[in-house]
Amino acid sequence: MAHDPNCIFCKIIAGEIPSRKVYEDDDVFAFHDIAPWAPVHFLIIPKRHIPSMAQLAPDDAAVMGKIMTLAPQLAFENGCRPYPEGGFRIMINTGHDGGQEVRHLHVHVLGGPRPWSKGND
Ligand code: AMP
Repeated sequence: MAHDPNCIFCKIIAGEIPSRKVYEDDDVFAFHDIAPWAPVHFLIIPKRHIPSMAQLAPDDAAVMGKIMTLAPQLAFENGCRPYPEGGFRIMINTGHDGGQEVRHLHVHVLGGPRPWSKGND
């Protein structure tokens, strides 16, 4: 399904729920996390409703590649300090054991000076 009417992130993409947008194109949407645990914390998501990494199919390679190459660009544009002193962390929680709460695939991008409120190691 391209759009799940019950999915909070699909509603954000559709503008039905407000968000602080970081980036948008035909395939990808990025927005600041509502409960950041680092000075920089935003999410990059495919516009197509993919529940998690567990459902990825070969056809999703292009959008996932786009997300991964956008991540550093958006990280540095949004406050992450230059590599190697700065940098960022990418996190993709998948399923219950993976700590996933929202079932629309999302790539966390975290950065900025430490300490962070969570995930300091
Ligand atoms: P995860 O535990 O990997 O599923 O992460 C879900 C993330 O979505 C959490 O960091 C939440 O703070 C974030 N989140 C949930 N609802 C919203 C929202 N309406 N706007 C922005 N971020 C959200």
